Order: sequence, then C-alpha cells, then structure tokens
Amino acid sequence: MHRNNIIAIPPLQSIMVSMMNTTYRIPSSLLTFDTNAKTVKGQSLGFMTGILYMAPHTISGVNLCSMAAIAECDKACLYTAGRGAFSTIQSARLNKAIFFNQNPVEFMKLIALDIGRLLVKAKKAVLTPLVRLNGTTDIRWEIIPVEVDVKLAKKLGVAPGVYRNIMALFPEVQFYDYTKIANRKDIPSNYDLTFSS
Ligand code: SF4
Repeated sequence: MHRNNIIAIPPLQSIMVSMMNTTYRIPSSLLTFDTNAKTVKGQSLGFMTGILYMAPHTISGVNLCSMAAIAECDKACLYTAGRGAFSTIQSARLNKAIFFNQNPVEFMKLIALDIGRLLVKAKKAVLTPLVRLNGTTDIRWEIIPVEVDVKLAKKLGVAPGVYRNIMALFPEVQFYDYTKIANRKDIPSNYDLTFSS
C-alpha cells in the first residue's frame, strides 16, 4: 500500500524469498568459452576455457559466496565489472543462479553437456581445454554430485551413474578456481584451487 506517495520497499529478506520462488528458464548453454594463450616454461600454449558466470553472493536469494561478507569482497566483485555491468548479462547470470539453486540435478547435467562441447571445440582448434566454474561465485563444486542418465552418458561416451563430482566425470580435464573458503577439502587431483584472501 502506498501512503503519501511513499513507496513501501519490501525488506531484503522478502525479495530473496521471492527470488527463490522465481521460475527460471533453462538456457541453451551455461559456460562461456574464452580462447587465450599462456606462456608456460617459455612455451606459448593455447587454451580454451569454459567459464561459468552466475549472480554472486546473495543476489539470487541463496548465498553462493559464503565468505563474501567476511572477506568484504561483494561490493568490489567482478560481477559489476566489465561485461557484467550490462543488465542483460546480469539477468542471464541471475537466471543461471536460480536454475542452479532450484534444480541442481538438471543444472549439473547441462554443465556436463557443455564441458563435452568444450572438449570437441578445443580439440578442433588444437587448444587445451580448461574449466573454471566459479567465474563469479564461490561454490564447493567438489561436493556436488552429477547424475548421468543413459541419454547423457551416450552423448559424453561415459558410463551412466552418479559421479561424485564434475571432476570425477571428466578426469582428463583440468579444472581451476580461486576461493575464499579456506577449509575446502577432498579436492580432486584435476581441480586446481588457489586460495585468495
Ligand atoms: S567470493 Fe568472489 S565472486 Fe563472490 S562476491 Fe567475493 S569476489 Fe565476488
């Protein structure tokens, strides 16, 4: 109700709850592919990196960066920098985050499919594939299982079943991330995690 032309702004908590109930649309892909060159031991190597950018911290109604408030990084977050400053990109990132929060099983299937696409593209371009899932979040991907049904298994050329995490599904792929969560443990050997305070 409006009184004296003053608009009542709902408390932040109710905005978050309404976000959690917001329906999402399933995007055609989740990863952004970025091609770049890195110099390793004096040798120039080409990489194709699949990066996942989602709305960080509590923007989606669920905290996807558990240490952000303590680290005080939420305001200076990458999310507001560069391409993320455009609202269409922000809403796409928000949609992905809501998809992840509400339907992690289907979300992880799409991530797996996207990594499969990355491998094909990188092979064609003679580039080394890399995957970075916390482009603008700080999620413990190592504890999120991936359900691979028969259809997905056929597409990826793997056995169907429930994989411990996405790294176990793609043991030949190098994953990497930066994190502010110091106590992450049981990190897979193909997941290179750098702690950034
Ligand atoms: S943890 Fe990283 S992604 Fe999350 S708010 Fe801080 S800087 Fe942004």
